Amino acid sequence: MARAIQPEKQELRSFHVSFVFHNNRLISIGQNSPKTHPINRRNTNSRTAEFVDTGSSIGGTKQTCSELSAFVKAKARSNIPFNKLTLVNVRLKVDGTTGDSCPCRSCQSLISHAGFKKVFYTSKNGEFVRY
Ligand SMILES: [Zn+2]
Repeated sequence: MARAIQPEKQELRSFHVSFVFHNNRLISIGQNSPKTHPINRRNTNSRTAEFVDTGSSIGGTKQTCSELSAFVKAKARSNIPFNKLTLVNVRLKVDGTTGDSCPCRSCQSLISHAGFKKVFYTSKNGEFVRY
């Protein structure tokens, strides 16, 4: 999995990035601002409402988590159910090393609602951890 995203990582600097894969195919990429990791304003109970709500805020806003951004794009681009998709979170620091990219609480609830097949994120040690 780490190898699969290697080329993408090298293009990026210090961002929190989320990748959504279907098998080995990359479906979408989302990223957020390196400065903030806001708790999402809308942490709804309905995943439908969440997607509709956040869909309108794509394109510019930095208030969206990378996970959320990747979710919305994946949903817009394919009809593949989330339980067949894999989410990979990566945080890259300024020096190029990876940092802890464990999903925030809001994204954790979204992840469980969406029912992703697998979720991985980078740890402080730069290793991929199964969520
Ligand atoms: Zn988040």
